[in-house]
Amino acid sequence: MIRYAISAAELEAAIEKEKEGWLAKAKLKTEAFRAAKKFNETDSQNTWSQIKPVFMKLQHDKCAFCERKLGAVMFGKGEHDVEHFRPKRRVIAWPTAKMIEEDEKNPADKRRFPYAFKTGTSDPSGYYLLAYSIFNYATSCKSCNSSLKSDYFPVAAKRQTATDDPATLKTEKPFLIYPVGNADDDPEELITYFGFLPVPKNTSTSSFQHRRARVTIDFFRLDDREDLLRIRAEVITKIWLAFDILSDSQTPPDRRRKAERILKLALADKSEQTACARAFHKLCQTNPTQARQFNDLAEQYLDNN
Ligand SMILES: [Zn+2]
Repeated sequence: MIRYAISAAELEAAIEKEKEGWLAKAKLKTEAFRAAKKFNETDSQNTWSQIKPVFMKLQHDKCAFCERKLGAVMFGKGEHDVEHFRPKRRVIAWPTAKMIEEDEKNPADKRRFPYAFKTGTSDPSGYYLLAYSIFNYATSCKSCNSSLKSDYFPVAAKRQTATDDPATLKTEKPFLIYPVGNADDDPEELITYFGFLPVPKNTSTSSFQHRRARVTIDFFRLDDREDLLRIRAEVITKIWLAFDILSDSQTPPDRRRKAERILKLALADKSEQTACARAFHKLCQTNPTQARQFNDLAEQYLDNN
């Protein structure tokens, strides 16, 4: 995951440009939900897909959570879901009993649950005041949105569904990281990578930073989805090759320029799995011996899968 930085004024301007009058209507709808004390719109009435292209462009057509590159605006809108970060209609406690039961079938060292901390309870109302809150949106892939995100929203403190005040919402101590805008922690400050595997950056298991990273990785299954591991392994082998070429003082200038170009693109926000790419490139510079080992593992993974 990476951050997609944007101010409220910039996001509002982009939305107004995409769909004039959308923000004013969103405000009226929110006031109606406030009066009704619930989200009471039907699927045919909702209008958030009208501003989907704003988030697709901001996120470089990548899923906000797994950083997979999806289709572009012209033909690819159907590949992106407008994701409500905090569920609008109801909240279901996560992990569910079924998830825990499934997890128990894994070998002991691969088990995710039980956690040593609480992750919040269900709430039948959901965050009904955030159905049209622009900083409750992101676009995501179907795997992240439909299969994994669903109506879950784990929190460390008391859930606050009946508010749209950012300061009150922050008191919930959400575990999942919200990557749009500048208000939440930078995902790259919380999650780093050992080769192609994401891990919490803060190694103190009792720290909230570690727990946020752990829950986000487990929630979106960022460490065992084969499609993600494959893309990251490809990114790593590409970066290692470029790094190796650039480390050789005998490399001719034109070849050096090509390697630099490949590297620059791999590390850019617009590429796939940028967070992994940046963490790996940093390792190449600080600990090339370990980076070489991670590259070998990535090559083995690609050969065997
Ligand atoms: Zn995704």
